[in-house]
Parts: sequence; C-alpha cells; structure tokens
Amino acid sequence: MNIRIGNGYDIHRLVEGRPLILGGIEISHTVGLLGHSDADVLTHAIMDAMLGALSLGDIGHYFPPSDPQWKGANSITLLEQVNQLVRSQGWQIGNIDSVIIAERPKMKPHISDMREKLAQTLEIEPDKIGIKATTNEKLGPTGREEGISVYAVALLVKEA
Ligand code: MG
Repeated sequence: MNIRIGNGYDIHRLVEGRPLILGGIEISHTVGLLGHSDADVLTHAIMDAMLGALSLGDIGHYFPPSDPQWKGANSITLLEQVNQLVRSQGWQIGNIDSVIIAERPKMKPHISDMREKLAQTLEIEPDKIGIKATTNEKLGPTGREEGISVYAVALLVKEA
C-alpha cells in the first residue's frame, strides 16, 4: 500500500490566565487552553493523525506529560519532530483535514494564519491543510465552553 490514513482527536480544558493557541497561532480570547504543553489542541490532533496513519502510537508516547522536558512545550516544535519521523520512514503528507469544535471565539479570521503556520512547519503547501470550525450548538462540555476539541485526519503517501 502506498497510502495510509490516520485520525486524531484531542480536547483541552478552557481556563483563565492561559493563552489560546491553535495551530501555532495565539488568538485573543478571555480564556485559554490548559495543558502540560502549550495545549495547542489542533496541532495535537494533527500529530496523532499523522502517527496513527503509520501505527506509530500517539503523542503521549513520544512527549509524555509526566516528563518535565515537555512542560510548556511549543507544540509546533513537537509537530516538526513528528514530521521528521514520518519523513524519515519515507512518507509524505497527501493532505490533512481537521475540524475545531468551539463555541467562541470566531475561528474564521484566524484560519488562514493557522494553515500557513502548519504548512510551513510541515513543509507542504497550505492547500493540503483543511481547517474547519463549528460550534457544538451549546451542547456538552465544548458547548458549555469548558473546553475546545479537535478532530483531524491525515493521508500519508509513500514517496516514490
Ligand atoms: Mg493534547
């Protein structure tokens, strides 16, 4: 098989006094995401999708929250490492698609910046990265603005 698909999911809690970082972009908001790293839930879901495509486990295996080395880690740096791992095994990204589930803030003004940042990090064209956003219609934890969650899929293609 010269193509592989993976999916990723992540959720982080929203709290006061933390920055909101999605896809490596800091977004102005009243609350931010809590986590051991910078809690960039979009980048985390994308990493899990890439690792999942090659059955390489999940980000918790490579960057365990119990390891002080990753405290406050910039998730974009972690994504660079996952990208190197994938490429070192002879695979490249066909495309990535994702959906951010958040009641607030509005994601639309930030999506092109996120795509640009992720594309730069992954060394691919921005048109290979889909980022969509939806509310959860005020239902459940994301609907109550207790957190933000993300689903992502990644298609990897074996280099010829
Ligand atoms: Mg996470």
